[in-house]
Amino acid sequence: MFTWQDYEQSLERLKSGGARVFVVGYSVLGRPIYGVFKGSFSGGQILIQAAIHAREGVTAPVVLRMMEEYSGSAGVWCLPMTDPDGVELCLRGLDSIADEEKRRYVFEINGGSTDFSLWKANANAVDLNVNFPARWGTGAQNVTYPAPGNYIGAYPLDQPESRALHDFCLKIQPRVTLSYHAKGEVIYKGFECADPYPQLAREIGTATGYGVFESSGSAGGFKDWFVATSFLPGLTVEVGESARSYAQLYEDVEAIYARNAQVLDICSRFVQDIADG
Ligand SMILES: [Zn+2]
Repeated sequence: MFTWQDYEQSLERLKSGGARVFVVGYSVLGRPIYGVFKGSFSGGQILIQAAIHAREGVTAPVVLRMMEEYSGSAGVWCLPMTDPDGVELCLRGLDSIADEEKRRYVFEINGGSTDFSLWKANANAVDLNVNFPARWGTGAQNVTYPAPGNYIGAYPLDQPESRALHDFCLKIQPRVTLSYHAKGEVIYKGFECADPYPQLAREIGTATGYGVFESSGSAGGFKDWFVATSFLPGLTVEVGESARSYAQLYEDVEAIYARNAQVLDICSRFVQDIADG
């Protein structure tokens, strides 16, 4: 379990350690989408984002640990929880929603169940990671109606959370993006025929022990959009053992962090190397 209070305490700790903490936007239910920055504003920047899928909330404490330990020179911008409403819904159920009408809406979409442990979407029942303009709506698992997962939205970036991530990314112009998901201990790289700088994924694969795969059939994801529009490396990192439940993964934060401890340093060296030509 990683409560909202735990989240804000982690952000406070980072702030007292010298990191910058800011807000890039607000969720459907008005929760802040926090950002954290460490490193230098000059040179290549890195963007790491997590918990864009509600049930994968464990990735938030994982990337926060990575930010705590990071001391490299490249600027690292971190959005630890892109889908705060979904993460809270997954952890606390209907109690996490104050608005009566919205409570009824998600309950209905969840098939009349109060168990939201497998919910992926935001509070509008849109899956934020299929809401980006990169072959939007062509993914194999896409659905075109509100659902606990895989609903693409009415049009690309129609949700405040995906819009906030998209606009923030355009603003900081990162050279690398890392998207933390759960689970399976694999890394996905590339989009369609584009596979820029495959050596970065290979190096991270070696450091983490995660297998590296081309992401085939993926569409509408943040990583898909980033690779398609920038021709720079965007990686999806799926942390956590497949056999564990999403809830159990919260017990594994330190172990998951340990496997990912070198990832930001590798990216920091990479953005310097490509800047040096
Ligand atoms: Zn995911």
